[in-house]
Amino acid sequence: MTTTIDTGVRMTAPPKLFVDGEWRDAEGGRTQPTLNPADGSEIADIAHASVADLNRAVLAARRAFDEGPWPRMAARERARVLLKVADLIERDAEEIAVLETVDMGKPIMFSAPEASWVAGIYRYFAGLVADLGGVTRPNLPQMLVYTRREPIGVVGAITPFNHPLVLSAAKLAPALATGNVVVHKPSEVTPLSALKIAALFAEAGLPAGVLNVVTGPGAELGEALVAHPAVDKISFTGSTAIGQGIIRASADGLKKVTMELGGKSANIIFADAYLDQAVQNAFFGIFYNKGEICTSGSRLLVQRPVYDQVVSALVEQAGATRPGDPLDPSVMIGPLAHAGQFNKVSEYAAIGRDEDRAELLVGGGPAQVAGGERGFYFEPTIFGNVRNDMRIAQEEIFGPVLAVIPFDTEEEAIAIANGTQYGLASGVHTSDIRRGHRVAAAMRAGTCWINTYNQFDPAVSFGGYKASGYGREFGPESLNSYTQTKSVWVDQ
Ligand code: NAD
Repeated sequence: MTTTIDTGVRMTAPPKLFVDGEWRDAEGGRTQPTLNPADGSEIADIAHASVADLNRAVLAARRAFDEGPWPRMAARERARVLLKVADLIERDAEEIAVLETVDMGKPIMFSAPEASWVAGIYRYFAGLVADLGGVTRPNLPQMLVYTRREPIGVVGAITPFNHPLVLSAAKLAPALATGNVVVHKPSEVTPLSALKIAALFAEAGLPAGVLNVVTGPGAELGEALVAHPAVDKISFTGSTAIGQGIIRASADGLKKVTMELGGKSANIIFADAYLDQAVQNAFFGIFYNKGEICTSGSRLLVQRPVYDQVVSALVEQAGATRPGDPLDPSVMIGPLAHAGQFNKVSEYAAIGRDEDRAELLVGGGPAQVAGGERGFYFEPTIFGNVRNDMRIAQEEIFGPVLAVIPFDTEEEAIAIANGTQYGLASGVHTSDIRRGHRVAAAMRAGTCWINTYNQFDPAVSFGGYKASGYGREFGPESLNSYTQTKSVWVDQ
């Protein structure tokens, strides 16, 4: 079933809970608004689920796993549903792009091409799962031993407000392809694309209960999902602090967990780098999606001989890039996703101003946008001469705020880059490819980009070192997060 809500934005999915294959109102008909961060207007009233609603979704998922066809189907039959969903995502690409843009302020120039990218995630895992093999150990005396890769069961997927479409696909595609069932709790800030994806799965013929989407109060529902004894695994993407709480809470039930957490990534520019390219990558590295991306290159390390040149090019570009209406195709920087983000970024701009010797070079405050007086626009902001022990260099700001740190030697750059609790991503810009490989090997981070930044592909593993989490999304490795191995011994 699909309905159209009339909010000026076309959304062919109801703003309800998707439970056991049906669209349902929350208990008591409770709803909560989801806002457009560009102007503070209400886009839709979405269901505000209670813990009882969440429990019903978990039990529907449990039944679908224990009794339903999905885990027992041939992998190619499950793959057929994922492939169909991929086609439907591309069919509705325009609607999906607008939903992402009005829900989280991601400029349409980035959300427009995203549908085909996300369709590619579903297709990748549809193909990959057909090849999901085990091993045989035929040489043990009198025994044949082989292994089976089996689904884990009910997966609680908890996703953050940024990149909701991509980050939910990174969980749903491998989890469903391998025969698990899912209760998805999207961020309360950006729930719309999750509902749309549920509608497309229903249209593609997914059996009832295999995917359930529950919207509403984030912490309350998230905690209930983590605590529920019928949930076997939690796949979480979000902040390190919430992730730590989930790990502690999931210990009682010994739930399996995958953690994709925060970052404070270092992007290094050596004096021998191709400077035009390095500056573009540094700019895109921090200001893409207004810095609301976990991999944002929020610490820029620049070798002293080119420090002034790099910084002045970045400052000029940042000053010339005005935030604007994210639905305008020429706009690169939209509003921050919600008021909490706006306040947090404003606070860090103030902290940066107060930090000993850091220089505010550009930005540092709310951006004025015509028609966006009630929106959450923030200027692209750059601090120079930052020291790595300052708060703006150590704490995740998750906004358009760049801390530029000068350095002299390669050893010093590596020490600064690794001098953080996080380890999600890193970048190195140099024309000496040997140095590029050497520095990449030294980075204590799950990704290192050499002479590029913020590149992703469904076939390439992604995830954190240190406090940025554990487990991997994307790539063949991510199937390990959603399967468990059984060894079968046969006396012959
Ligand atoms: P968040 O941690 O505040 O929330 C993430 C999700 O957890 C939301 O769905 C939220 O409702 C839910 N939640 C909140 N409290 C909970 C609780 N007590 N128990 C269970 N669930 C709870 O993060 P956010 O502000 O939505 O997103 C930004 C953060 O996500 C940043 O730290 C960013 O680096 C991180 N992130 C990481 C990756 C990655 O792949 N490593 C990708 C994107 C974002």
